[in-house]
Amino acid sequence: MTKKVLVMAKKKRIALIAHDNRKIDLLEWAKFNRDLLAKHELFGTGTTGQIISNELNLEVHRFKSGPLGGDQQVGAKIAECKIDFLIFFWDPLEPMPHDPDVKALLRIAVVYNIPVANNRATADFIISSPLMSSEYNRELIDYKERVLKVEEKNII
Ligand code: PGA
Repeated sequence: MTKKVLVMAKKKRIALIAHDNRKIDLLEWAKFNRDLLAKHELFGTGTTGQIISNELNLEVHRFKSGPLGGDQQVGAKIAECKIDFLIFFWDPLEPMPHDPDVKALLRIAVVYNIPVANNRATADFIISSPLMSSEYNRELIDYKERVLKVEEKNII
């Protein structure tokens, strides 16, 4: 399968999202890692972005609130290769009205091969990786090739 390489800069574009029951956890994590996060460009869904920005006194580019389309906006930015990192503490115990958006966001993060942390342990490992402070060659699989093959099969 053909692959393309996209160079992730030293300064990463990180999206931060947390469902309501996980916001305190994300905030604690972000406070602990404030100095590391300050070296990167931060994005967030409406409420999460506001909380992080206020509490850490850092600039956070904010999208709409998750249930109002914010998760989809983050997904669109990943597809445009304008966000290269996702810290998303979703709630494993509560169904959400925007569960389809959450699923779509997690899916698009896999398609575009970006690092994703859905819990604190993963976020800890990711943020302390030496790759955080260096360039990284992110490989993108050319799924178009596969889609075309499936279409060909369907025609025959
Ligand atoms: P919020 O959205 O940051 O606006 O609360 C998060 C979400 O529910 O996806």
